[in-house]
Amino acid sequence: MDDGSGSALVLDMAVSLKAHPETLKRSVLFLLVSAEEKGLLGSKYFAAHPTVPIKSIVADVNVDMFLPIVPLKILTIQGIDESDLGTRAAAIAQSMGIKPIADPEPLRNRFIRSDQYSFIKKGVPSVKVDVGFEVGTPEQRIFKDWLTKRYHAPSDDVNQPVDLQTAAGYEEFTRRLLLETANDGARPQWKQDSFFRRYAPD
Ligand SMILES: [Zn+2]
Repeated sequence: MDDGSGSALVLDMAVSLKAHPETLKRSVLFLLVSAEEKGLLGSKYFAAHPTVPIKSIVADVNVDMFLPIVPLKILTIQGIDESDLGTRAAAIAQSMGIKPIADPEPLRNRFIRSDQYSFIKKGVPSVKVDVGFEVGTPEQRIFKDWLTKRYHAPSDDVNQPVDLQTAAGYEEFTRRLLLETANDGARPQWKQDSFFRRYAPD
């Protein structure tokens, strides 16, 4: 899950979008970064030495440990209220019959704890979306158990139970977010009252 699942999704997405380049008005850059556990080192390096001008990067969609371990009813959108990208992610979830929610545990500061933060600090509107749960439900129990037993442990292996339907639904959600963002005439903007807007150059 951390982060073989995200890497696999990026590879699968690249194959499917490459098969239909005509569907894209903007290019999509597929980035696999290393050393996230050591302090976002790979994404920091890329953000400092990007292969395309940083100003031309309109959005970052980061996929890291999205945890397809329960049926896909809820998506937790990190950055849901920070930019148009968050708003769009929520709208797409709803259009797929999935409930979008903000992080039920905001004190964990997850919006700045994975590779999207390297792009946020360069002013790039970003989201990180995970399979979610409502507080106090059996699903929350499943997530808590996973974090206790498998997070950063050898047991985070391929023999663990995975809800493949949820993984497929999550990938479809991500595809729609990429396509809509790539094809929208307007670039996503940070919200006026977003703390992270201060990083946007203009
Ligand atoms: Zn990790």
